[in-house]
Amino acid sequence: MFACMRRNGSCLCGALTYEIDGEIAGVWMCHCSNCRKVSGGTGNTILVVPRARFHWLTGADHRVTYAVRPTYTITRCKTCGTPLPADEDEQHVYVTAGTLDEPLGVGIINHIFYGSKADWERDADGARYFVERTTGPAATVGHPDQT
Ligand SMILES: [Zn+2]
Ligand SMILES: [Zn+2]
Repeated sequence: MFACMRRNGSCLCGALTYEIDGEIAGVWMCHCSNCRKVSGGTGNTILVVPRARFHWLTGADHRVTYAVRPTYTITRCKTCGTPLPADEDEQHVYVTAGTLDEPLGVGIINHIFYGSKADWERDADGARYFVERTTGPAATVGHPDQT
């Protein structure tokens, strides 16, 4: 194991970039209805990182934060709208996993509010998996990692 593991991330337009020092245990995924709305998908996927190990490299002044409720805020890039890492409590930054630039090397370690997940968050019978678009190479029927 490297003594000084470092990972980089960025928003879609590239205005904001950051780095994380040290090991990351894995991804937390929240399936609650708030996170579904905010992500527009199945929910939010985050890395819980101690503040001292997270550093903005560029664009820290390019963030906009929406205080939806006192306990629920959303931070996005002003230009491209990418959901961004946010200072979520006194000790931690919650880093949006989709903004990482490279593979993480670990998967999801905690699913929270799984009891509230969308009823469509599952494969329908015969779901097809395409490596890219439907016009590309032929599909696999059923999850390719489980066949
Ligand atoms: Zn951006
Ligand atoms: Zn949530």
